[in-house]
Parts: sequence; C-alpha cells; structure tokens
Amino acid sequence: MTDKEFAEFLFPNIPDISYYEEKYPRRHMNGAIVTRCAPSPTGFVHMGSLYQGFVAKQMARQTGGILFLRIEDTDHKREVEDGVKGIVEGFRQYGITFDEGYGIGGNYGPYIQSERGDIYKAYIKYLVSKNLAYPCFCSEEEIDENRKIQEATKERLGYYGRWATCRSMSKEEAVRRIQNGEAYVMRLRSQGDFRNKHIYHDAIKGDLEYPENDMDIVILKSDGLPTYHFAHAVDDHLMGTTHVIRGDEWVSSLPYHLELFQLLGFEAPQYAHIAPLTKKDEETGNIRKLSKRKDPELAVRYYHEAGIPVGAVNLFLATIANSNFEEWYLQNEDRSYTDFTFSFDKMPVGGSLFDLSKLESVSRIYFSHLKARDVYQEALMYTHEYDQEFYELLQKYPDYSISLFHIEREVERPRKDIASYPDIRKEFWYMYDELFFTKENPYADCKIYPEKQLLMEYFETIYDETDPQDVWFDKVKTFTGNHGYALNRKDYKQNPDAYRGQVSDFCEMLRVMATTKTISPNLYDLLQLLGRDRLLKRLELFLK
Ligand code: GLU
Repeated sequence: MTDKEFAEFLFPNIPDISYYEEKYPRRHMNGAIVTRCAPSPTGFVHMGSLYQGFVAKQMARQTGGILFLRIEDTDHKREVEDGVKGIVEGFRQYGITFDEGYGIGGNYGPYIQSERGDIYKAYIKYLVSKNLAYPCFCSEEEIDENRKIQEATKERLGYYGRWATCRSMSKEEAVRRIQNGEAYVMRLRSQGDFRNKHIYHDAIKGDLEYPENDMDIVILKSDGLPTYHFAHAVDDHLMGTTHVIRGDEWVSSLPYHLELFQLLGFEAPQYAHIAPLTKKDEETGNIRKLSKRKDPELAVRYYHEAGIPVGAVNLFLATIANSNFEEWYLQNEDRSYTDFTFSFDKMPVGGSLFDLSKLESVSRIYFSHLKARDVYQEALMYTHEYDQEFYELLQKYPDYSISLFHIEREVERPRKDIASYPDIRKEFWYMYDELFFTKENPYADCKIYPEKQLLMEYFETIYDETDPQDVWFDKVKTFTGNHGYALNRKDYKQNPDAYRGQVSDFCEMLRVMATTKTISPNLYDLLQLLGRDRLLKRLELFLK
C-alpha cells in the first residue's frame, strides 16, 4: 500500500489541499499586520484575553492591517452555552472590534473551528500522503503507563522515540485495526532531533533558544477534531495571519508549531508571546500570575461593577503594554492612547504588574479629561444599573448636574477627584438636597465653629447671588476684615493673637456650612449652584 493509498483510505472524499490553497488566496499586506483573537468559547473575557486583544488591535490598526476573530471550539469539554456571545460582547464593550471573523464574515471563513473539519482533514491527508502523519491506537491507559515510567526513570515525557510505538506500525495493520472499529488518533511523524538547538526571534521576548521537536504530537483527536497545535498551524496559514500574538503559556509548544509549519510547507508567522498579568500576593508578598480562582480583578465584570470606565481600563492596558507609554501620555493627557505608536520590543518580557492602585490613578486622569456632559451620561448609565436612588436624582436634575460636574473641568488643570462612577456620588452627594436633608445630621462629623453665627450676618447683609466671583470674594474679605479677621496669611502668622482668624477660616466655615466638607470644588461655583434659598435652609440647620 502506498502512502497516497493509505491517505485515501483514512480520508476518503476529502479534497486535495490545492483546493483550499486556491480558495483562500494569500493576502498582500505590504508589511501591515494581520492578527487575530482566538478565544475558546468559555463565556467571558478575562483581563488576560482583553490585554491580548488590546495589543492585537493596536498592532493591527496602527499598521493599517486586519484584526479578525476566530473561535477555537475544538475542546468541547471547556465550552459553555452561549459562550461565544459572552466573548464577543466582552470584546465589543472594550472597543475591540474585528474587521472579519466569526459573526462578521470575511473571505477566510468559516471562522469557527468546529466548522472547519474537512479543511483540517485535508491537511492531515496531505501529511499522511507524505508519510508525515500516522494513526495511533494507544489507549489513554497505555499513555499514562508510559508517562509513569518516564517520570520514574526521569526521562522526557511524551510520545517520541522508543515510546512512539505506533510510529512503526505497518499501514496494513493500521488498516486492519481501523476496519475492526478500533479508536485512534492521528499523530505527526516528527522529523526533528531533540539534540539540535535553534534560536527563534520572538517579537516580544527576543531570542529564544529551543530544541527541535521530536514529539509525535496528536494532531487529530479520536473525536475527529484537531488539537490546538494543528488547527493553529492550518488556520493561521490559510487565514493569512502575519503575527500570532498570544499568551506566553504557549512558548513551550513553539517547537511543535515551528515543525508543523515546516512539514506542512507553510511560512511560519511571526510569534509575539505576551507576558502574563501578575500581582503581588497579599499573603506571601511574592509576585505571581493573576489567578481566576483567587483574583476577582481578573474578571472584566469586576471593572464594570466597580464603575471603572472602559476608557480608563484601556488607558491602563496601554501603560502595561508599552513601558514608554506613560511618559508620552503625561505629556499628552488630552489625546487618545490610539495616537501612540506601540511597539513589540517595548512590551514586558517577564510579567506585567497589574496594580489596581495604578489603575485608579490612571482612571482619575481619564475622568479629569471627560466633558461634564459625558460624565453625566456615563454616570447615568452606571447608576441605572447600580444606584437607583442617585440615578433618579441625576435624571431629575440634568442641567444642574452637568453644571456641577463642569466645575473645574474642561480647563487646563482639571480636578482629579473621581476615579470611578461611585466616586461621583461620594464626591457630590451634598449638592442634592434629597441626600443632604435626609441625613439625620449632615454636620455630625464636622468641626465645631464657635464663630458660626457670623454666617447669619454675612447672608443677611453681604451675600448677593448676582455678584461675580471677584466681587464676591472682595466682599468676603471686607466683611471678615471688618470683623477682626486677618486678610492674609502673613499678617496672621506675624501676630495671631491680634485676629479672630484669617479669611480662609471664614471661607472654610462657609464651605462646611454649604457642603459639610473642608475640601470641595470651587466654593463660589457651589454657592451659585445651591442658590440663596437652599443655602439659608442649610444655614438654619448648621446654626442649630
Ligand atoms: N484558543 C487559544 C487560547 O484561548 C488561543 C491561543 C492563540 O491565540 O493562538 O489560549
């Protein structure tokens, strides 16, 4: 029996690879990057896949390339119902959109592996016809047994050399066993020699030394579905992927992939292995990988619930992705991270520290550059889901709220007091009477101000809502000066006993009366927004 006949026996009615090679013509990209997100349909996007998607998106977009979505569903055990929907939605929410792929279309589909069965078989048939693949009938028990012996004798684990028992089986015997209905997998007939070492230049990790592969890895499972390794080689070849950007847990299987590409006669893509997201373990203090089990912050849902905007998460991913991004951003805070040119060689090689306090400070910067109207809109969306009471207030007072959020915003040095949507309520609750007057005593935690009666006189005789800010402040100064307050810090410092206090003490008291806070956005603006009547209601309570 010839190899060709054997291939025909194993894969009858499966077309020749030339059919697929013609069906999916090479792309002509002129150096632009074609890359992909290749999630398994586990139902949700976690920070690791989002980070991978972020890098892939940036690299494709900034070179005028293509980003496509391929669903890798060859491992049925890991699937969850509606898993694909959750993944696509997760990516979409974070601005990762695809030029082609599953659910979108394109010339290189189907973009879901379970619908590409015949394609994989065609390439395995091709390998069999070249005597580069063979059926293996070893049971799981036999493989396990061998592994135990390998462990005990400290030999390399795997199916290779003398352990690869089916490698030398005659085609005739294989045919007989298949006709007998025995289950089998297809394995690669590796041509490599483990003792030969090579260097591979990874776009992120740089030069990696690796041994030639000599493992006869499984390429088609007994259920007729390909393994990740094989599907990756065939798909990324046919889909014209120029760059495989993926987690570095795959580095150790790189030798398999390079051999697969070689034996299939494909040009290998450029690999870029992304370092894992890490954190400092709270208990041990050691740096470790983020774990699905231990770290809620790995789930993208966590940021949604915590009210960290998508834009802030993306900015944070940008700071992780390139070591020189942050410096650029601090000079260009009002620009989008998409204006920055990312490069593989500035990406972290070991681990990327995923530090939540860093995310918070990035988020503050992000919020500070939002327009008041956008803060309002985004807060409305968040509170609709998580804070019904505040949502209703925002809805009731749209213009008022926007004016409130406008204070010290859309200016050269905006305030950085908000890091998340819930902070908006924390920072501004006192500006809503419904929240202010329902507190038993809003001033309960405030300092006692012995001079507070003075505020009454101030409001009765001086305060005029129509005054512009400079006139208002001049009047405050005159009023306090007339009542024995120092008009500046220097006078007060030189002779504190001669004064009742200084202007700033009076202003603090006024601020506390209006807001309960000693620190707030611009006092004049707040007083204007509150207006005389509401201020007098607060004063009454303050003086009690
Ligand atoms: N399906 C693989 C995973 O989820 C994709 C790896 C790759 O990007 O090639 O890890």
